[in-house]
Amino acid sequence: MTSPERVKVVVIGAGQAGLSVAFYLRRFELVADEDFVMLDRAPGPGGAWQHRWSSLRLGTAHRVNDLPGMTELGLSFDTADRNLPAKEVVADYYSRFEEHFDLRVRRPMNVRQVVNAGVDLLVRYEDLAPQPLLEVQKEARGLFGRRRKTFEEPAAPVVPQHEIATQFLVNATGTWGSPFVPYYPGMTEFAGRHLHTSDFTDAEDFRDKHVVVVGGGTSAIGFMLELEDVAAGLTWVSRRPIDWLDRQELDLEGASAAVAMQDEAARSGRALPSIVSGTGVPRSRRISAGIERGLLVARPMFDRIEGDRVVWQGEDSGLARADVIIWATGFRPDLRHLAPLKLREKTGGVTVGQGAAWNDPRVFLAGYGPQASTIGASRAGRMIARQIMAML
Ligand SMILES: Cc1cc2nc3c(=O)[nH]c(=O)nc-3n(C[C@H](O)[C@H](O)[C@H](O)COP(=O)(O)OP(=O)(O)OC[C@H]3O[C@@H](n4cnc5c(N)ncnc54)[C@H](O)[C@@H]3O)c2cc1C
Repeated sequence: MTSPERVKVVVIGAGQAGLSVAFYLRRFELVADEDFVMLDRAPGPGGAWQHRWSSLRLGTAHRVNDLPGMTELGLSFDTADRNLPAKEVVADYYSRFEEHFDLRVRRPMNVRQVVNAGVDLLVRYEDLAPQPLLEVQKEARGLFGRRRKTFEEPAAPVVPQHEIATQFLVNATGTWGSPFVPYYPGMTEFAGRHLHTSDFTDAEDFRDKHVVVVGGGTSAIGFMLELEDVAAGLTWVSRRPIDWLDRQELDLEGASAAVAMQDEAARSGRALPSIVSGTGVPRSRRISAGIERGLLVARPMFDRIEGDRVVWQGEDSGLARADVIIWATGFRPDLRHLAPLKLREKTGGVTVGQGAAWNDPRVFLAGYGPQASTIGASRAGRMIARQIMAML
């Protein structure tokens, strides 16, 4: 392990939330890679967006809000080509943003643990970049006289470990790394394939398959629309009735009610409610047409899985064949590496107000709860950077 460097702030995550915080820290004249360090485990820029499926176009995503300072680069998601894959546009814009503001994100660096080291917090992380074969390993192999073929085999990866001591921590790790799948009887014996939203790459993977899509949000609806002409059979189930809105897009009023619900849960340390339970689902023209032709009609949740079938009991009894079950059932905040800090309450969440963790004044959660949208994450930057500067 290399000897720990010491900085004022470590930002974990270079998605919308982390980049926004970094932008304001720089504005307050902190120097990137000296006063503050950004760590991200992904191979390139783009935050969670770089992992999303290609058919998710900028025009079919909800609105992607600009990062603060983006106008300085002459960029805006509002004027980007809506037909391009969202993953490409966002990765490209974030990449230019990082370069323009010289943010020097260290990647691919996976933070394993943050521990309390008295005055400082210690951030332990590993370098996920492919590492060259170490000389010492080559020699050891030679010493044991192994055959040449074996000698050329790649060594077991040696992952370099690092540590940074920091005065403040901004955790901006999003949710993509923590997919949520609810438990249903028979799941582990399912004869087909389970897949979460985060594993979906291409509708063609499901050609001629019988697919069951679980979930009541826009991801589930998007999968239904994409699979309509591809799958051999398609069943949509939702754990709660779909709350269709009479509008084509999310309005500000609906969104602010959802944000208030998230804020209330975060401030009282409760587990965060699902976003869609607060917003409802807008009926775009494409979605309305899907409802009219009977595609977008959700059945209630099935009761159990049996072999290659999902089964309903009681009044709605019946079954549907399933080669694949796609769980579009959401995500949870990705906070495992913060476990040693004991921030989590018995009530299931972390108590967070204005982005600050109430159990440790050195820790900030950017993009958490009410900030979990591109607009909320952008706003988080200024709010959090100001608080840190006041304490430095
Ligand atoms: C399918 C889907 C569609 C969405 N569509 C929209 C939309 O249209 N509009 C909108 O406003 N919001 C949308 N959202 C929500 C949106 O993704 C977020 O609000 C926003 O982009 C999240 O930004 P973030 O910075 O908080 O997280 P992320 O973009 O997830 O960034 C987190 C970063 O942290 C890194 N990281 C995680 N853990 C570690 C670790 N241990 N060590 C190092 N690095 C780590 C990751 O590599 C990642 O780069 C969508 C979400 C989903 C799941």
